Amino acid sequence: GLTKPWKDFDRSKVYMADLESGLHYLLRVELASHKILEGSELTTLKDFVTVLAKLFPGQQPVVKLLETLQEWLVSLPLDKIPYDAILDLVNNKMRISGMFLTNRIEWVGCQGSQPQYRGYPCSLWTLFHTLMVHAVTRPEMQILPGFDNSPQMVLQAIRRYIQHFFGCRECAQHFEEMAKESMDKVATLDDAILWLWRKHNDVNSRLAGAPSEDPMFPKVAWPTPDHCPRCHEEIQGLHTWKEEEVLAFLKSYYSVDNISFRYSE
Ligand code: FAD
Repeated sequence: GLTKPWKDFDRSKVYMADLESGLHYLLRVELASHKILEGSELTTLKDFVTVLAKLFPGQQPVVKLLETLQEWLVSLPLDKIPYDAILDLVNNKMRISGMFLTNRIEWVGCQGSQPQYRGYPCSLWTLFHTLMVHAVTRPEMQILPGFDNSPQMVLQAIRRYIQHFFGCRECAQHFEEMAKESMDKVATLDDAILWLWRKHNDVNSRLAGAPSEDPMFPKVAWPTPDHCPRCHEEIQGLHTWKEEEVLAFLKSYYSVDNISFRYSE
């Protein structure tokens, strides 16, 4: 494909354009290969959309769409749903007012130096970290049914989304192995944020130098000392993370206040 013109962006920000392009891709492309949703796939989709409806830090029309989709999915008395019905709702064929999701792909913080790099998988990580941080920092979430401060709710919804739907099947398998090993032991919301951060760094380190690595965005232990000097420490010449600082950094980096709406519709 053609390389799009480069967009200037700030590496210390999260871009709504990435989150919305990612949601568009998830709902209109990734799910589209599942013609009928039933059984554990349907349960997984309902739970993931519930998490999105409660925690996606979006503009009103997007949040309205996610809430409408969630209410519709949970209220349907069917055990099978054709994907086309979901698409009709996402495309707002019912003309419900005030509801809209872009159908453009506009990668910003997730743009690659070539079209085969970055994009959707980058936006999915960004979405997961954002949802996880929001589960912790938005106090109203804790009083909603099913959001009883349980760190497992969001983590397990992410895990099962990847397992059932993520188009990169090899990635899904790797992620499931990591989840099996230690996800069940995560006991607090802060631990859940750090678990996802740690596993993402494990993936970065495994993929460093792989053909999928964009040479302009080398896989590194993140956040780098440029991003967060206080997150790093050397003890007797060995690098260590200062996890309380990392946690504080993640809570601020993935917070609502750090989302830029530049390039989004
Ligand atoms: P990404 O790794 O996608 O990161 C996106 C952004 O998140 C970065 O630009 C940075 O701002 C931020 N970030 C980076 N590290 C962290 C961190 N530790 N914590 C918080 N934020 C961070 N590809 C494979 O080839 N094999 C796999 O097995 C594989 N497994 C994957 C599993 C999952 C669940 C996902 C979502 C993706 C997986 N991928 C895998 C894709 C791969 O991880 C990258 O998403 C892809 O290569 C694009 O990399 P990127 O440079 O855009 O950065």
